[in-house]
Order: sequence, then structure tokens, then C-alpha cells
Amino acid sequence: MTETPSIQYVKGVGPRLAEKLAGRGIKTPRDALFFFPKGYEDRRRIVSLRSATPGRIVPVKGQILAVRGGGRGWGGRRFLEVVISDGTGRLSAKWFHFRPSLADRFRVGETVTLCGMVRLFQFQTEMHHPEILGVAHEDDPVNMGRIVPVYPDIEGIPPRTLRKIQWEVVRKYAAAEREFFPPWMLDAAGVPPIHESLETLHFPPPSADAETLLSFSAPPQQRLIFGELFYIQWVLARRRSGVRKEAAEPLPWDRAIVEEIKQRLPFRLTDAQRRVVNEILKDMSRSHPMHRLLQGDVGSGKTIVAWVASMVAWRKGAQTALMAPTEILAEQHTDRFIALCSGLPVRILLLTSSLSPKERERAREEIRAGRVDVVIGTHAIIQEGVEFRKMALGIIDEQHRFGVLQRAALRGKGRLSPHLLVMTATPIPRTLAMTLYGDLDVSVIDEMPPGRTPVETRVVTDVRRKEVWDRVRRDLLAGGRAYIVLPLVEESETLSLRDARKTYERLRQAIPEVGIGLLHGRMKSGEKESVMRRFQKGEVRLLVSTTVVEVGVDVPDATVMMVEHAERFGLSQLHQLRGRVGRGSRPSVCFLMVGNEQGEEAAARLSVMERTNDGFRIAEEDLSIRGPGDFAGVRQSGIPDLVFSDIVRDARLLGKSREIANRLLARDPDLSHPMHAGLKRWMESKDATAAALE
Ligand code: ADP
Ligand code: MG
Repeated sequence: MTETPSIQYVKGVGPRLAEKLAGRGIKTPRDALFFFPKGYEDRRRIVSLRSATPGRIVPVKGQILAVRGGGRGWGGRRFLEVVISDGTGRLSAKWFHFRPSLADRFRVGETVTLCGMVRLFQFQTEMHHPEILGVAHEDDPVNMGRIVPVYPDIEGIPPRTLRKIQWEVVRKYAAAEREFFPPWMLDAAGVPPIHESLETLHFPPPSADAETLLSFSAPPQQRLIFGELFYIQWVLARRRSGVRKEAAEPLPWDRAIVEEIKQRLPFRLTDAQRRVVNEILKDMSRSHPMHRLLQGDVGSGKTIVAWVASMVAWRKGAQTALMAPTEILAEQHTDRFIALCSGLPVRILLLTSSLSPKERERAREEIRAGRVDVVIGTHAIIQEGVEFRKMALGIIDEQHRFGVLQRAALRGKGRLSPHLLVMTATPIPRTLAMTLYGDLDVSVIDEMPPGRTPVETRVVTDVRRKEVWDRVRRDLLAGGRAYIVLPLVEESETLSLRDARKTYERLRQAIPEVGIGLLHGRMKSGEKESVMRRFQKGEVRLLVSTTVVEVGVDVPDATVMMVEHAERFGLSQLHQLRGRVGRGSRPSVCFLMVGNEQGEEAAARLSVMERTNDGFRIAEEDLSIRGPGDFAGVRQSGIPDLVFSDIVRDARLLGKSREIANRLLARDPDLSHPMHAGLKRWMESKDATAAALE
């Protein structure tokens, strides 16, 4: 690989565009070669206006009938409208930012080729901001008459211009490029070398199979996907091995400790709980830090596992920090830990931001002096000024509510590198866990404590609301406890808050004989706590709530849940909510209410909730419906966005990438073998780009 000149000297670029390209890390033609399309458009054939299907992106060609520059949009802004006809139909192309220079390109009577998404608006066929592929007789072999690449947007460079730059680059530089992955990796991944793919990837030959390309399953694309997935797996593998090399304080258990803990257990651990306890205690006994994710469905009993780990730490004279996402949850954990430790000289402290400055100062002093053994709290734990004397075990509950930075902050509070246990009740599909938590070892509790009856779930449209309500009411009047959950959509927090309040007021009048409580995120934590306590005690029997109730709250007597506007929730989130009921031995029911308009479609999507109580299956379903972007935790994971890959579609290649990354790390961790020289350079440039974009 020889050094290539600056991108500026590629035909059609120049200093202005060069600067814009540099902003995306494209400084040389070689960088441009490795700036790949994220998709393709099939523009091999002009589509007649009559057969242009709404929702599809197609090229059309027609004669200009009218150019109107005076239109006013909704905001009163002027927009440009160009009406064309091809003899089979008409189309109105619209640009919502009127520019005279744009309008001047169109002349009535001339022919124009446009490409864009076909839309139907009030029975009229439209395109908004289409690409202009040629006015009159201009010929454009790069942008027309072929399967064209669609590149990720670069601000300030129109797609057409970018495509032309890439065309020049590919023609001049592609042939000289050499694959940097060594043959053994390509073989293991089952993908072709890049020099066989570069040209095809940017500008597929006319004979290419458009469907295969669009589904990203052509071999050159697989090569790209492998590159992307492999890079992530490599970063994670390095992180994992880096952590393994750090020094931690070993916290070995012995017979006496285990006996003591066993005697205090209020119930027999399930086999799954026992297995994960073993995995965790084994990790903690080592002189390198544990870095473990504990996955277990809602109600599977993760808290007791955390408590066991903290007991071992305590007996070894170390402090434990347990961080939970909400105050309610931190308080609940504190209560449980205190109960489990009764009679033992374990000092447990609750640290939340609702302590008064004076209390906080005192709490911090106790922690600093090592006079408390277990600190349970919210984000307050990782704030500046909180210094542990000897924290050697960090536990994060409902991990998906926190990001990698917070995880790191908690680790930073420890003595040496603390052992870290992160727990989540959001079952994460294996494929996603591999990218999200690839730097963690994973334990799974895949078994529920005995005596639970699975929650019966029913998706109900609004027309049958009365039947549902009769059922809720009957249960309440018979002494039961119920939740009504309203969605909390971020943008309209106030709106849904009002909904919750309104519902609350209405119900208080409808059934005055039943204690009703209201719980939402805007309440002070003291208020929340008191409502939750009254609900736990049964003074409040119907709890109207927004999703704050979602996380970890435990009220075994609640047997009915009604979720309003269930269609607004993701499946995994519904599963979390549903986990609030069915915690006792009595049969429970969960009604998922959907609006009449959304009825059919929503009901179909939600029906999986009726069929299974298995959080992992639901998560898989959720992932394939919504994709990973919406998945809890993905945004905060610090993993770069995937451009080419789709972890559901490419699950197989993902698994292989992980294996290959591990093998490479074992064989040549510093990439010093000559065979890996090109790979090393590539990864360094990726690391630099990733750092620059942060
Ligand atoms: P989660 O995994 O959702 O955090 P919890 O730890 O809150 O679940 O446990 C849910 C409920 O199950 C609690 O009331 C807990 O006491 C109870 N529990 C946990 N493990 C067992 C077990 N092995 N046998 C019986 N009950 C259990
Ligand atoms: Mg929990």
C-alpha cells in the first residue's frame, strides 16, 4: 500500500469539498475507497408514472408541464413545484426551500429525469426533494441507468456529487488496493478478499442481482459486514482481556461463610440461582476482577444472589457498593438486605440524593472511614466526594438503565479494580448481548422460583374495555390489588402525566371504597416511597402509575395489571411491566389495552405476549420487529452505530467475528506478525476515527 495523494486532487473535489470530506475522516482517495454505500437504489430502468408504487424510490422521466414557484407551504414558506407528465400519468415534484437558481433549471416543455420516493398525497402522485438526474439531454452514467450506491450523508455534499467523486476514486484507485485481513481470517469468516469486492461494492455491474444487493447478502457485502463486526468484537475482546489483567482483591469464600449464608436464606435457592452464585463466587475468589453480567427475567430472584455476594465481601472485610436506578428500588434493596442480615453486625447504608446536605456529609464520612459495609443507593454513589475506604465489590442493578461510563465510575471507586456484577431483568438476545456486553462474562438465571403461576395475558381493544374494568373492579372489591399503567412518552411527559392524574381522579369517584394511589416520575422520592409503602401494606389497593413502576418493585399481592395504550410500548418493556404481577402464588392477569384504531395491527404485534412468558423469546421478537436501535441499553453502550450490519440478519457472521477476534487476541495480541501488518494499520485508523467522532 503506497501513500496516496490528498482527496483534494481527485477530479471534481477541490479545497471546499475536500474540507467537508475530511470532516468525515476522508482525507485521501484511499479513505474514500473505504467509505462504503449503506444501500443501493435500482435505477436501471425508468419507471412509468402509472406504475410508480408509493413508498418506493424510483427514477421517472417526463415532460415539464408547469413550474410554480409561488406556492405557500404550511408555514407560509414558498416552495417550488414542478409538474411532469410521461403520457401514462402526472407527478408533482416539490422542494420546500424555494431557490430561484433551482427553479431556473426547469423549463416548461423540456424533459427531466427525477429520482425519489413516490408518495400519494390527496390522490396526487408526488416526490419531495427528488434527485434531479438530468434536465433536457444531459447524460449521467454514474447516477442513472445502473444500480447506484447510496452513501451515508455528508453534510454539504449532495448525493449526486458524492457519487461522482466515488466513481472517480474507484476507477483510479480500486485496482491497486490489497486485502488487509490475512487469509486465515477470511477463510474462517467465509468472505472474499476486498480487492475482489471493491468495485462491485461501490458500483455493482448491471448484471448484479438487485435483490441480493438490497438484502446485503452478496459476498462482497458480507466482507464489509465482517469488517465492521470484527472491529467491534476486537475492541470488546481487548477490553475484556485488559480487565482480566488488572489486579483485584481476591474475596475467597470458605465453608463457614457459606454455612452462615445458607442458614439465613429465607427460601431454598433454585438450581439456576445456585449455579450463578457459584459462578460469581468463583470469579470473586480470583485476584483479577470479576466482570460479570447477571441476566434473569423479572422475578427470577437476582437480589438474593447480590446479597450472597455482598456477604462474602463483608466476611472478607471489604465494602460493597450496590447501585440501583431509582430511589424506590434502592430503598427496597436496603430493606431486604437489612432483613436478611438481622442479628449480624453488618452495617448497611442507604445513599440517595434526597439526603439533606448534613446527612450526606455524615454518610460520606462513614463510607470514607470504612464504618459501613454495604452501601446501597442511586447515582449518588458514583458522585464526586464519595470515597470508599475498601470497596472491592460493585453491583449494578437494572444495568440497562446505566451506561458504560457509569459502570466505569463505579469501578473507579474501588480499591484496586473491584469485582463487578451487573444485573439486568431485560433479557437480551444472545446476539445483542454479544455486541452490547461483549466485554462481560454472562450468567443467566433461567428458572423461576417455585410456586408462581404464569401471568395470563390478554390483548383487548377499547370496545371491550367494560369487561376488563368489571374484572378489575371485582378483584379490588374482593380485596385484591391492581396496577393501571399509563404510557409515559418522553416528549409529552406533561400530557401523559395529566392522563394519569385524570384517571386517578375519575377512579376515586368511581370506586370510593377502594384506596387509590398515584405514582409518577415527577413526584418527590419521599412521596413515591410513601405511596409504594401504602400499596405494599394494602392501604392503597389500586395504583395508577406511569412507567416508574417498571423497575424492580416487588408487591406479591398484586394480581391484576391493566396497561393503557399498550401499543406504545416495546414488547420487552411490557414484559417488564407484567413482571410486577404474578409474584405471589395467586393467579394473575395482565390486560394490554389497545386503541380501536390501532387495533388489528397492534394486537398482532402484541399477541406474542399472550403466547409466552419467556422474556428471552419476547426479546428476540422485539429485536426483530424494532431492530437494535430502540433496544434498552444500546444507545448508552458506547458501541459505534452499525452501518452495514444488522445483528439479527447477520447473527451468524457476528458469532464468527467474535471467535476470530478471540483467536487473534490469543495468537497475536499486538498484531506484530508481518501477516497482520495491514490489519494493524487499518485498525489504528479505525481507532483514530472512532476517537475523533467521540
Ligand atoms: P428480580 O430478579 O426481578 O430482581 P427479586 O430478586 O426481586 O427478582 O425476587 C422476586 C421475588 O422472589 C422476591 O420476593 C424474592 O424474595 C423471591 N424469591 C427469590 N428467589 C426465591 C426462591 N429461590 N424461592 C422463593 N422465592 C424467591
Ligand atoms: Mg430486581
